[in-house]
Amino acid sequence: MAPLFDASQARLSWSDTPKSEFEGVSNPPLEILPLVVSGPSSNRVDLIFFSDGYLQEERGKFIEDATRLANDISSNQTFNTVKPLMNFWAAFTPSNESGVGVGGKPKDTPFGLYRDGTELRGVYYAKPEVAGAACSSLGDQCDYPILLGNDPLYGGLGGRFTVITPSLANGALILRHELGHSIIKVGEEYDGGWGYFGPNAHADLSAPVPWAHWLADPDSAHARVERSVMPMQDYAWALLNTSTPWAVTFESAGAYARHLVRFSVSGLPEQTDLRVELDGVDLDWAPRANIGVDRWHYDVYRDGGLSAGPHTLTFTLLNGAREPAAQMCNAEILEFGDESEFVSTPGHYSLYPTYSIDNATTYRPTNEDCLMRIITTPNFCSACLEGLWLKLLRDVSLIDALDESCVPSAPGASTLTLRLVPLAHLRTAAVAGLADSYTITWAKDGVVLPAWTNQTRVAPAHPGTYVVHVEYATPEVRADPDGLLAAAMEYTVSGTCGSDSVM
Ligand SMILES: [Zn+2]
Repeated sequence: MAPLFDASQARLSWSDTPKSEFEGVSNPPLEILPLVVSGPSSNRVDLIFFSDGYLQEERGKFIEDATRLANDISSNQTFNTVKPLMNFWAAFTPSNESGVGVGGKPKDTPFGLYRDGTELRGVYYAKPEVAGAACSSLGDQCDYPILLGNDPLYGGLGGRFTVITPSLANGALILRHELGHSIIKVGEEYDGGWGYFGPNAHADLSAPVPWAHWLADPDSAHARVERSVMPMQDYAWALLNTSTPWAVTFESAGAYARHLVRFSVSGLPEQTDLRVELDGVDLDWAPRANIGVDRWHYDVYRDGGLSAGPHTLTFTLLNGAREPAAQMCNAEILEFGDESEFVSTPGHYSLYPTYSIDNATTYRPTNEDCLMRIITTPNFCSACLEGLWLKLLRDVSLIDALDESCVPSAPGASTLTLRLVPLAHLRTAAVAGLADSYTITWAKDGVVLPAWTNQTRVAPAHPGTYVVHVEYATPEVRADPDGLLAAAMEYTVSGTCGSDSVM
C-alpha cells in the first residue's frame, strides 16, 4: 500500500464536495489569521490550516507551525512563482486535549485526528462533517482545507481534507505533495503507488506525449523510453525486532549497468541502531542528521550491475531498545542502463518508466526532478508546474478589478486603474531568474490606444466603451490551449465623473 495516499481519494477535493452534506452541522469557533495574503479571496485560491490537538495555551504554537509550513512551501520554492494567485490562512480552534489520537482512537479535538496504530503513517479524521461545516462557513476563503494535527512526527492523508502534522522533517514535504494531488490533480511519479494520471503521466506509447513541448527535441514524434527496471518493491511498514531480521529476496535479470537501493525507515535515530545489507554487503546506512525517531528516505546508488539470479536485501535491528518504534517503511530496487541508455541528469525530459503497486508501467517526465516522485525534493517538474499554473488560472482571473476615478482638472474625464494579480513587474518580491511579463492593450470603441500600452493607470478617459486585454507570459507555461494566461475586461465611461462639482 502506498504511504499516505489512496487512489480512491485522488480525484476527491473540497470543490467537488456537495456542501449540502454539512447543512445543520454546527461549525466550531474559528479565529481566522492571515499568513500569506496576496489579494481578495473572491479572485484567489485560498488554502487554510485548521488546528486540531492544540490547547488554548498552544495557540501560539499553532500559529508558528502554520506560518512555518506556509512559508516553507511558498518562499523560494514549490509554490513561490504562483504565490500571487494564492492566499494562506490559519483558523484556530482550541482543543480540549493536546495531540493526535493513537490506536484508532481520536482525542477530544474539533476534527478528531488519530493514527491507526502507533506507527508513523496515515493520520485520519473522525469528524469530517465538522471539518466540512468549518470550511463551508468560510465560503471563498476556504478552497483547500488543511487539517493540521499537533504531533511532531511523520503522518498525513490526501483527499478532500489534506491532513498533515508539523513534523520538522516531514510536514512541509507531505503538504506540498498532497497539495500537488489535490490542486493540480496529478497522480504519483513514485513507484508503488495506486494512481497515475494527469499532466505528469503517460500510459500509451502510441499516443502523443503530454509533455512533448518540454522534451529536448519537441519535434521528435516519439520520445524514447529510458531503460530501467524495478525488480523489487515492498511497502512493508514492518516493525523491526532484534530476533529476526526483515529480509526480501528478488531476482535480477543481470542486464543493467547500474542499480539503486531506495528505502525509508523510522524510529531509528542512531547509526548503531540498524544495519542494511544487500547480499551480505553492508550499505553503511546512517540516519539523516537530527532525524530522531521521525521517518526519512535513503538512496544508495551503486555502480555496476546486479548479477543474474537471486539477491537479498536485509534490515537488521541492532538495538533492542528501539522496539517497537523501529520501522522499515518501504524498500525498492531499481536497475538502470548506462547514461547512454538512461539519462539521469536533472532537467532532462523524456519517458521514464514508473511502476505501480501492481507493477503496471506508466511513464513520467523526468528521472528525479519532481516532488511527486521524490518527496524530499522541494519543487515540481515542469509538467506538473505548468499544470499548476493552468489549474490555478481556471479559478483566478489575471484582472482583479478596473476602477474609475475622476480627473479633478478635467470634468467629465476619468482615470482608469487596472488592478492586476501581482505577477511579473507587479510582484511584491521578485523571483530570481524568472523572466515573466504582462502585456496590456487598451482600446476605446474598438480602436486600439497605443499610447496606453502596458499602462495600468490611464487618463484622461473620455466617455466611451473601453476594453483592456491582458496577457501574461512565463517560461513556466509553454502550452496554454485554453487561453488561461489571458484576460479581458470591458468598462464604459459615462462622462458623469466630477459632474457634482461642476454643478
Ligand atoms: Zn511532476
